[in-house]
Amino acid sequence: MDYISTRGIAPSLDFEGVTLAGLARDGGLYLPRVWPRFTADEIAAMRGLPYPALAARVMQPFVGDSLTPERLQALCEQAYGRFAHAAVTPLIQLDERHWLLELFHGPTLAFKDVALQLLGLLFEEFLGRVQGHLTIVGATSGDTGSAAIGAVAGRDGVEIFMIHPAGRVSEVQRRQMTSVRAPNVHNIAIDGSFDDAQAMVKRMFGDQEMTDRFRISAVNSINWARLMAQVVYYFAAALQLGAPDRRVAFSVPTGNFGDVFAGYVAAQMGLPVERLIVATNVNDILHRAVAEGDYSAGTVTATAAPSMDIQVSSNFERLLFDAGGRDGAALAEQMRGFESTGAMRLTEAQRSAIATLFGSARAEPADMTAAMRWAREAAGQAIDPHTAIGLHAARAADIAPHVPVVTLATAHPAKFPDAVERAIGVRPPLPTRIGDLFAREEHYVELPGDYAAVSAWIAERATPSA
Ligand SMILES: *Cc1c(COP(=O)(O)O)cnc(C)c1O
Repeated sequence: MDYISTRGIAPSLDFEGVTLAGLARDGGLYLPRVWPRFTADEIAAMRGLPYPALAARVMQPFVGDSLTPERLQALCEQAYGRFAHAAVTPLIQLDERHWLLELFHGPTLAFKDVALQLLGLLFEEFLGRVQGHLTIVGATSGDTGSAAIGAVAGRDGVEIFMIHPAGRVSEVQRRQMTSVRAPNVHNIAIDGSFDDAQAMVKRMFGDQEMTDRFRISAVNSINWARLMAQVVYYFAAALQLGAPDRRVAFSVPTGNFGDVFAGYVAAQMGLPVERLIVATNVNDILHRAVAEGDYSAGTVTATAAPSMDIQVSSNFERLLFDAGGRDGAALAEQMRGFESTGAMRLTEAQRSAIATLFGSARAEPADMTAAMRWAREAAGQAIDPHTAIGLHAARAADIAPHVPVVTLATAHPAKFPDAVERAIGVRPPLPTRIGDLFAREEHYVELPGDYAAVSAWIAERATPSA
């Protein structure tokens, strides 16, 4: 499979190339040149496959010659063998039409594990071939950091330096990062905010002294391989509910637009998706974009669902490109306008293409609480704040009554025990497999919020690229 940039200028790459590259050199994001498509018979033949075999089947067209089918399946078995549920992403029924797709049975209790566990193995595989070494540098406000560390810990050819703002991530989140003991994992707490940490990482990518010595990479959700791995669970859920003979709708708690874009990819591949509902909290730029064609960033409001507190969603560019007829030059122009003014209108072509598949909703804090209570009362389920926003949107959506609606459960409720307890009066316990989190020793260094100090600390410890 050949991958092209949304901005039309960067050279095309194969799957191995896009996995290691992340962002395209022209500032765009990579997408397959064409969407591979399964026939209804091919989809029907996937019924009943164990998750790793299904994953290999769905991803093989994207991987192309970069991995043999046997090798791809072996990597999927390794990645998903670390999940605590035999189904990997089990589907739970809430009432006659509403379902939860639990994506939080991985090592760090959030859906990001589904993609990152595989990405860590893909890095190891591809770097082993070229005898290369990758230095991942990231900033985190919580979830991404722990999932990325969980993916890279102990892998060959790759190391990770994760920067978090001291005292500003929850204790569970901090411990999930700092209690990992592996020589290739380095946690840095800086005196400053998440934005300060993020700014340092950006600066490091442009710091020639660093980039000459180290092959520095990122693990955020612009990486194509992450999106690809997320396509699989849309197939897993729809197959269980009767696909390809029955249409299924999905409601997705959305931040950076990666997870819901994977649903769009599943639909392009032939999965009968009735509707994709983009669920947002009060940080509702994506709801406004889908409903009104107005993509304009406001200021970020902190909420009980922090992974959705986002105003600029990087992966939305992929949808704008595909829905707008794949004109890289026109999209580059549109994105330049957005980058200089913080606002843009979607074109009529983009709006009408998006409206055929997408719906959206914005949840107020009271809607989130009501959804948490409903899941508790209707089905005895404790759900986390992000999932609750998705469930609110699912229940508010106007969808034909015979179509099942699957809400993606993106985090384990025990990751957000205070918010859950406030809503339903019950404090969800940490699963026993990570129950000793509070007893484990932590490893991290505290540094001033100063670029020179942080980059020097990293330069002393990182492995040169060649
Ligand atoms: C990252 C995250 C999201 C948002 O997912 P995107 O792919 O960025 O849209 C939603 N919920 C949880 C719990 C997350 O960690």
